Amino acid sequence: MQIARTVSDIRSEVAHYRAAGESVGLVTTMGALHEGHMALIAAARAAHDRVVATIFVNPTQFGEAADLEAYPRTEARDIAMLEEAGADAVLIPEASEIYPEGDETIVETTRLADMHHGRTRPGHFRGVTTVVARLFNIVGPDAAYFGEKDYQQIAVIRRMARDLHFPLEVRGVPTVRAEDGLALSSRNARLSPEDRAAAPVLKRALDAGRAVALPGTRIEDIAQTIRETVAEEPRARLEGLDLVDPMTFLPATGPFETPVGIMISARFGRGDDAVLLIDQMEIAP
Ligand code: AMP
Repeated sequence: MQIARTVSDIRSEVAHYRAAGESVGLVTTMGALHEGHMALIAAARAAHDRVVATIFVNPTQFGEAADLEAYPRTEARDIAMLEEAGADAVLIPEASEIYPEGDETIVETTRLADMHHGRTRPGHFRGVTTVVARLFNIVGPDAAYFGEKDYQQIAVIRRMARDLHFPLEVRGVPTVRAEDGLALSSRNARLSPEDRAAAPVLKRALDAGRAVALPGTRIEDIAQTIRETVAEEPRARLEGLDLVDPMTFLPATGPFETPVGIMISARFGRGDDAVLLIDQMEIAP
């Protein structure tokens, strides 16, 4: 596996693939890799001749400096996992490589970025679209793979790629979970043992919502069931619960008659050490 630290190194690697007529799949990550990321690599591996990964803890998508500082960094292990999973190349740039001196260009979805998770994390999705647009331009893949766990993120990236006419496909990969249902996340490593034991409440709450969602059930009743399930777990502090139309991301209302995307987020732990976890489920009547 080629390890590239600069834009020009990864570009010349991809140019070799292209010269040989090979297709390229891209998997962007912030490192601290786990089986969720490996599912993205496997999906890209199955569809393309070459797989390029990126590891970049993107400073512009973090609101709090403490959160950026605390983000786990496990580069040697990440490289070994990517190699094992069959990636052909990985770009691991310094921030100054992606955001050159004097940088001032941003990419933003104006409506989608301000809703739901974007309301509680101002600037987060602007950071995501700004870095992903740059990575798309740097690598120039045929398709890029993102986890459905980050439900609003994938919608934002799809919209951005479509609006800016990026000549690539954005593909979603189903959420990989631990046996107890907790969605795998690099943030899980920061949970105390007690909070780790409590965290599967998010998936339980989504399942409870799905269980009461019969055709015609009021959306508000589905939401209430989810809230009550989270409230049964004293270690979880519900931060956001949004039931949305999967196409527009506008709030779903009235009776359950068309597919609904459910996004949930909760904090576990106290103070600066509190860990924000998110989960998601799409339900259809
Ligand atoms: P991150 O490193 O957290 O920025 O995630 C990089 C990519 O991996 C994103 O597209 C995520 O949606 C995806 N991802 C993270 N966790 C999971 C998971 N448990 N299952 C599937 N994809 C995931």
